[in-house]
Amino acid sequence: MEALFKERQDAIAAAERILIIGGGPVGMETAGEIAAHYGTTKQVTLVAAKGLMEDPNTPFSDKFKTAIKSKLESVGVTVAVNAGHVDLSQATTNDAGLIVGPATYKWQSGEGEFDLAIPCIGSRIVPPLIAASGWEDKLDGGSLKVNSNLQVDGCDGSVFALGDIAALKETKLAYYAGIQAALTAQNIKAAEAGKPLKAYTLHTQATSMVPVGPNLGAAEMSGMLMGNFPVKMLKGKALFVPPTWAGVGASAALAALK
Ligand SMILES: Cc1cc2nc3c(=O)[nH]c(=O)nc-3n(C[C@H](O)[C@H](O)[C@H](O)COP(=O)(O)OP(=O)(O)OC[C@H]3O[C@@H](n4cnc5c(N)ncnc54)[C@H](O)[C@@H]3O)c2cc1C
Repeated sequence: MEALFKERQDAIAAAERILIIGGGPVGMETAGEIAAHYGTTKQVTLVAAKGLMEDPNTPFSDKFKTAIKSKLESVGVTVAVNAGHVDLSQATTNDAGLIVGPATYKWQSGEGEFDLAIPCIGSRIVPPLIAASGWEDKLDGGSLKVNSNLQVDGCDGSVFALGDIAALKETKLAYYAGIQAALTAQNIKAAEAGKPLKAYTLHTQATSMVPVGPNLGAAEMSGMLMGNFPVKMLKGKALFVPPTWAGVGASAALAALK
């Protein structure tokens, strides 16, 4: 992982014109981090086929989308929305998930020459784990269909799917995955004791926090909008790295890396 991380850093350092493909949080956070780190020494362009933060399950407000777009533009990122898909038919992504080397890229509303393209277009349709398991009939898109107790549909009840792999009509968040994990732990104990299982309550309001580098950003949390300061303090400064490492008992290992 360290080698992969370094490879990505080196590719970004070596490129002057960088194309970010995708208007979801991964694309926007990546564009914001590069712009914040390198300033205007890099030309960063983000192309979104549709709007920014398109989430069919829990749509985000226009105010939130406008706020992130203007923050990206304020740090020099060129943002093209509703631009149509970037043609990647001639492009080859390397093992680090990057398309390295000068090339012309075309999309419906424009085109440009870039030294590096970073596709941020979501995960693979069928994860290898599922493809190998023969469970393609249990898929809804790339995720596993579950019942209200997060048990995989069509299994005997002993298989649970939670986090990003579960086909739940809510935003994919580590925060929600944690709630699902606690509930599933309780439900496994309940099942062992022959007690009824508790159903999971879906989160139906838009929730996401998108930093634009360490100091700027916007959030919509259950419908409430937040600006630079809370986003910086809660996420932008360290991108949840310390609590994530602490969560797997690895704080000492993280400190040793610094
Ligand atoms: C840039 C970015 C920013 C984000 N920001 C936020 C945020 O601010 N707040 C928030 O709540 N969420 C955020 N998320 C979403 C959050 O990271 C995910 O929702 C969360 O990680 C999902 O957890 P998970 O355990 O389901 O999946 P993952 O974290 O993807 O973990 C899956 C694990 O399964 C392992 N695995 C895969 N295949 C196999 C196999 N065959 N056998 C064994 N292991 C396997 C993988 O190696 C990995 O460790 C963000 C995501 C991204 C990409």
